[in-house]
Amino acid sequence: MGRNTEKFDAIVAGAGIWGATIARRLAEAGKRTMVLEKRAAVGGNVRCETDPGTGIEVHVYGSHIFHTHIPEVWEFVSRFAAFNGYQHKVLARYGGKTYFLPLGLALINAFFNVDLKPLEVQLFMANEANSKALFDAFFRGYTSKQWGRPPEEIDPSIIKRVPVRSSYDVNYFNDTLQGIPLDGYNSLFERLLDHPLVTVKCNSVFTLDDAEKTDVPVYYSGPLDALFKNRFGPLPWRSLRFERETVDVADFQGTSVVNYTEAKVPFTRIHEFKHYHPEKKEVMAAPKTVIMREYPSEWHPGDEPYYPVDSADSRELLGKYRAEVDALNARRAGSGFRLVVGGRLGSYRYFDMDKSVEAALAVPLE
Ligand SMILES: Cc1cc2nc3c(=O)[nH]c(=O)nc-3n(C[C@H](O)[C@H](O)[C@H](O)COP(=O)(O)OP(=O)(O)OC[C@H]3O[C@@H](n4cnc5c(N)ncnc54)[C@H](O)[C@@H]3O)c2cc1C
Repeated sequence: MGRNTEKFDAIVAGAGIWGATIARRLAEAGKRTMVLEKRAAVGGNVRCETDPGTGIEVHVYGSHIFHTHIPEVWEFVSRFAAFNGYQHKVLARYGGKTYFLPLGLALINAFFNVDLKPLEVQLFMANEANSKALFDAFFRGYTSKQWGRPPEEIDPSIIKRVPVRSSYDVNYFNDTLQGIPLDGYNSLFERLLDHPLVTVKCNSVFTLDDAEKTDVPVYYSGPLDALFKNRFGPLPWRSLRFERETVDVADFQGTSVVNYTEAKVPFTRIHEFKHYHPEKKEVMAAPKTVIMREYPSEWHPGDEPYYPVDSADSRELLGKYRAEVDALNARRAGSGFRLVVGGRLGSYRYFDMDKSVEAALAVPLE
């Protein structure tokens, strides 16, 4: 950390959406707050870049759509951003054709070349041959690529957990509160952290040594294993590799995300970012577009962690690291220091952005 933090009442380590929300709350509660961020910029995995050639907002860590059904979360983020009302739709390419996800009348009728009515869908899907055909086309290959396992190992029971819609509703999320910040995610973070009691330091890694020297509460959303110097070994993750390309065409795929569900196609999706801002007429009409292919990849220590790998081993490891947090807090009790851990890395859990904000709004402030 290497800086004097005595004049602060709290430290927030990690300026993703969890940490930035906590920092705002601390400042509004009158606490002088130091935000330390390991990367060169705030925003965590929601960080975007403006492509210099086209002016298109590129979601550096993969497409991010804000969606929620939690009014308090929507109210909170709406203080810092106006949203454009974008409603997310995802298409799937299989066998040379394009289908509307999620599983609903549009996909089922097109795939089986039938004309089901809403009340006929459940019965149709109860037929094992039908559900197997859908599973094989849209889930087996995709899931095997995502988790790096042979398609044969993918459990067909997945499809029983996938909700099937008996309607032509092709909105990917069920949440009515949805959109992309009109002036981009980075501005949302700038406004969240723009408070006279908040000081932000980028390129600053919070470490266990810092924790030992600090006498104020610390809200940490980095990885737990890294904080404790990997003393029990690394928690496993699945990673992603993104391949970005500027294409000389006004519209590459007609929508923001297309999933490629076949195992033989090496990537899982193509993102086309200009479609997140249909209100930007000039950008939409420009003769170029930016696309990004997403390749799931094995994670090795040092790689970007994206999806936690849930297994008996990883749960046991997580338990050990959590016990270290409790032990540290017990040892430092009475000093003013307290380590509060959260966010996707600290919790070792996948959270959508709204769930990260909800969790951050619920953290009791010291
Ligand atoms: C591919 C992908 C797509 C997604 N799409 C969506 C979507 O469409 N909609 C949605 O709602 N959610 C989506 N999410 C989830 C979303 O990314 C998370 O909800 C969000 O990033 C969680 O924020 P966070 O603050 O917990 O973590 P992060 O964004 O990871 O922020 C943690 C921050 O802590 C910093 N840090 C780490 N260690 C330290 C340290 N020791 N000291 C200081 N700083 C440190 C990191 O650099 C990082 O900036 C997606 C996730 C993935 C993987």
